[in-house]
Amino acid sequence: MNSQSDKSARNELNKWGWNSSLEEEFNRISREELLPGRVATETRGIYTLVSKTGELLAETSGAFQYRAVTRSDYPVTGDWVLYRPSMPGRGLIEILLTRRSRFSRKTAGERTEEQIIAANIDRLFLVFGINGGRNFTTGALERYLTLAWESGAAPTVVLNKADLCTPEEKEAAVLTAENSAPGVDIRLVSATTGEGLKDLFSRAGAGSTIALTGPSGVGKSSLINAWAGQELQKTTAQRENDLRGRHTTSLNRMFLLPGGEILIDTPGLREIQLWAEEDSLSETFPEIAQLSWKCRFRDCSHTGEPDCAVQAALNTGEMEYRRYENYLELEKELKYLKTRQDANAARLESAKWKGIARLRKELKKNGKKS
Ligand code: GDP
Ligand code: ZN
Repeated sequence: MNSQSDKSARNELNKWGWNSSLEEEFNRISREELLPGRVATETRGIYTLVSKTGELLAETSGAFQYRAVTRSDYPVTGDWVLYRPSMPGRGLIEILLTRRSRFSRKTAGERTEEQIIAANIDRLFLVFGINGGRNFTTGALERYLTLAWESGAAPTVVLNKADLCTPEEKEAAVLTAENSAPGVDIRLVSATTGEGLKDLFSRAGAGSTIALTGPSGVGKSSLINAWAGQELQKTTAQRENDLRGRHTTSLNRMFLLPGGEILIDTPGLREIQLWAEEDSLSETFPEIAQLSWKCRFRDCSHTGEPDCAVQAALNTGEMEYRRYENYLELEKELKYLKTRQDANAARLESAKWKGIARLRKELKKNGKKS
């Protein structure tokens, strides 16, 4: 490839957020037959990648699958991968490049497994509708916020449907959000009238990746369409799905906005269970983390121990009871998650040792034979 076309190809990648640290990793791996691409959509193991030569369909290679241990080792929307071109417009994914952030939840249902919803996000928009309905509860905000802190992406709370509110209601909604998300960037917008949209999207900057999440019906699709100014062009994978007459709502999609921002639309998640560490909970409830230092016991659960600073703050009214209750609920969920994670880790470990023991036995037996 001559240097001119090499440069424009590089620009094509930069458009999707390719940067110097990815370039470094790519050079370190140094496998000339592999090309970089970013996952735009994923449905049942079929990926759409954007690359310097445009869109292509890809699957993970046999070697990739052999190395993968858990579900989170597989690419998701927003991931950068290295693929081997096969047929025209097709490729085999060989390597997953290091993720700089990952927005995850616990898989829906009984299994204790991480589900990564999107990777390599710079900013996470937590969208709520403030039309007074059940879409904006502080409990939900605190839950999404904990997941956001865990992800490594910077959160922005987006209060949509401002057009349905009186000035007093708007003010109340912002106050509620500020109370549940202290110190976090909060925006009041309307997908219908366009209020606040320019500010919202352009602040992320060209080449940076934004993901939208939040309950169904809060206006995530409307916000994207309003900002893009048109029905966004469907990606190949979606077109193929449409052709097959199947409509997959669980599809993540990655778009380029007119201002050069990269946007990932996450599916409406009916159930969003935590997949996080205690630290992320502390970031959501910084005042409780602060007060904990003054409790008599280092491992105080704040539920009745003597000289508990949190209980004292509840008594004086300094600490809001509702927030305290939600903290306890999320913390209980995290503790339960931790127990299940530990049990899984122990099972994996024991399976590994059983495998080794079996192998030893077999080697011994074979050794005797010869
Ligand atoms: P999503 O499930 O989060 O993607 O939500 P949608 O974008 O599908 O919007 C759900 C409903 O809310 C639709 O009927 C939209 O027309 C409506 N909606 C979205 N944004 C606004 C807004 O800013 N103001 C008003 N009044 N309605 C909105
Ligand atoms: Zn305490």
